[in-house]
Amino acid sequence: MRSRGSIAIVGCGPKGLYALDSLCEMARKSAMQHYELHIFEASSHPGAGPVYEPGQPDFLVMNFPAHMIDAWTQGRGPDLVSWSRDMGIDVASGDYVPRALVGQYLFWCFDRVVKTAPSNLSIRLHATQITRLDQRMGSWVITPGNISVNDVLVTTGHQNRSGDEMAKDRTTIDAHLLLDAAQSFAAVPKGATVACKGFALTFIDTMLALTEGRGGEFVKVESGYSYQPSGHEPALIAPFSRSGRPMRAKVQADRFSPPRDATFWARQLDLFQNALSYTAKEPFRMNVWPALLSIADRVHGTQDGAARSFFNDWHAAPFDAERCRDELRLGYDIAMGVAPPDIGWALAEAWRRCYPKLVCWLSHRELCKPDADLFRKVSVEMERLAFGPPAQNVGKLICLEEIGLVSFDHLIAPLDSDITINATIPPAGAAALSDPLAGLLRNGHVEAGILGGLRVNNSAQAMVNGVAVSGLSIIGRATEGCVLGNDTLSRHLHDLPENWAKHVSRAASAPTATILERTV
Ligand SMILES: Cc1cc2nc3c(=O)[nH]c(=O)nc-3n(C[C@H](O)[C@H](O)[C@H](O)COP(=O)(O)OP(=O)(O)OC[C@H]3O[C@@H](n4cnc5c(N)ncnc54)[C@H](O)[C@@H]3O)c2cc1C
Repeated sequence: MRSRGSIAIVGCGPKGLYALDSLCEMARKSAMQHYELHIFEASSHPGAGPVYEPGQPDFLVMNFPAHMIDAWTQGRGPDLVSWSRDMGIDVASGDYVPRALVGQYLFWCFDRVVKTAPSNLSIRLHATQITRLDQRMGSWVITPGNISVNDVLVTTGHQNRSGDEMAKDRTTIDAHLLLDAAQSFAAVPKGATVACKGFALTFIDTMLALTEGRGGEFVKVESGYSYQPSGHEPALIAPFSRSGRPMRAKVQADRFSPPRDATFWARQLDLFQNALSYTAKEPFRMNVWPALLSIADRVHGTQDGAARSFFNDWHAAPFDAERCRDELRLGYDIAMGVAPPDIGWALAEAWRRCYPKLVCWLSHRELCKPDADLFRKVSVEMERLAFGPPAQNVGKLICLEEIGLVSFDHLIAPLDSDITINATIPPAGAAALSDPLAGLLRNGHVEAGILGGLRVNNSAQAMVNGVAVSGLSIIGRATEGCVLGNDTLSRHLHDLPENWAKHVSRAASAPTATILERTV
């Protein structure tokens, strides 16, 4: 009979790394228990995964500053800035560093966790793409490999991105293709006209791949950037999306002075916490959203209702070229300290500051349908306003539009182009699952909640009909909606990896008969 300590982590990007590290911490605290851990990671850099692949070009940068990147809890290891210093790489805390550098850091963290793992935890790494998980006789059987474990954690994040890279036909290609120079030139010859589906962060990556990635150079000037072409660019890049709304630039810390101090924010966060504690039939509409709007009004120092008017106007209709241009310029000027923060910035700042509390409040909670619909509408727009690209990339977009290489004339009706690039990523939650999660959903081992995410409890265990599924846990993008804000590198926004490790450690030491969980 297998011991309760056999565990698998399927998918080892950042969240798999955090789970592994948490399990090591628990194993140190339970020295008498032996754990046998299998890690399945398809890519060549566990810890980093394809999103932070160390070989990707340096023009692909993070969308939050270096000082926020720390893979450890309680200072048990170096954050990105001090690790870079130790490696002889000069990184300032406000820099938006290349994702490749973050990948090197995460891969180093993975290596360190494995090398310093306690002796009662044996780890086997399998460079395998997992296609199936089957529950048999109280264990989970993992395919390929036919390995059987008591507990499996699925942290497959963006799942199998390589499948997306297949061209649907010769004129529609996936944005990932452009990151490889040879494939990029074959797919998008110089002088081609390009329609780009999606106007968010992947569009920015695409735009940079077709310009900087082809040898063009941006030069910083007083009003933003100028661009020196290489001659290998397409003739035109025309983004389109359902709304035409762009993302707002993140502020440049050395140029921007925040208008409110720590005392002000401590008071606002207390008020927000109070709003979260009210009970109402539609708590988001009645309490939470009004509280956020009021905080934004106070941040900006305007009359009550200014933030609500801004938001209503922002999402009332799709943006045309002129509105898009004005919005990008305003966001960039605010970010660079040239224009004063507007009510849109204040609303975004209220959302960012309150976000950790919102994550705690919303996660594992079922909203009623009207409240869920409002939350979905608000969070899509706040993603654009609060979690946009660094100012430098908005500056580059403005520059390319000014010289006519990017066009905003086809924002909601695609350009009739030589090539269309898909610069969107599949939706989070249960809407677009690949195997093995798709199979688990088909077989009833997982289910989706009202906001579309696979249901899990606060130890990350899959939940079906309100009961934990024995030995099956999920952390990350597939649970988005049930857990808020998964698509982040932050180690500190959620405590699911730590809670999961506590849970499997408890399960490993408990007599099997006392574990009262559902077996589908
Ligand atoms: C292009 C891009 C840029 C981003 N930039 C930022 C940013 O700047 N800041 C930020 O905070 N967040 C960013 N994100 C969000 C990003 O998803 C998270 O930061 C983080 O990667 C989430 O970690 P994860 O482990 O949940 O998922 P992932 O990083 O997707 O990792 C999942 C892992 O599972 C593996 N895997 C998948 N399927 C299988 C399978 N069937 N079998 C075995 N292994 C499998 C993959 O190879 C991968 O290593 C970005 C996302 C993308 C796509």
